[in-house]
Amino acid sequence: MILISACLVGKNVRYDGGNKLNDKLKKLVDDGYAKSICPEILGGLTTPREPAEIVNGDGFDVWNHQAKVVTISGEDVTEQYKVGALETLNICKRLGCDTLILKADSPSCGSQKIYSGDFNGTKKEGSGVLTALLTLHNIKVEDETNYSLLLDERRAADHSEQKTSNK
Ligand code: SF4
Repeated sequence: MILISACLVGKNVRYDGGNKLNDKLKKLVDDGYAKSICPEILGGLTTPREPAEIVNGDGFDVWNHQAKVVTISGEDVTEQYKVGALETLNICKRLGCDTLILKADSPSCGSQKIYSGDFNGTKKEGSGVLTALLTLHNIKVEDETNYSLLLDERRAADHSEQKTSNK
């Protein structure tokens, strides 16, 4: 089972009340091949909500108590981000999910870059809070820019399993 960021499959869960629909990823969910999750909603945050960024590091630093997630008006929402990430990890384990396709650049879901923490539109290298937790549990994270290879690998594995079971 694959889990996908809910905003990528058209659910209006982003901080601004919108989504980032990717038709190919939505089809994976519609066809029963994947399910969607939003860690920030699972953590108790609402839509719309204030934008938030990780200050003083990235998701790994949040779990090491060296960085915080803070909204643009200065509210500390670190706890909600951690609760949502832990709940997503639980769901992932329950479903036997070994890979997630998560929205790039998000303070929860980002896996290559995240926003800098200065609320000025710049990005820095690093992972979001959820991605860091999943990585610490050896669960693979891709984003909407690099997931195609993963699906090709899955199809090849399914195909070879089918061939073996047909022998
Ligand atoms: S990027 Fe992740 S946390 Fe943000 S809206 Fe999408 S699914 Fe939710």
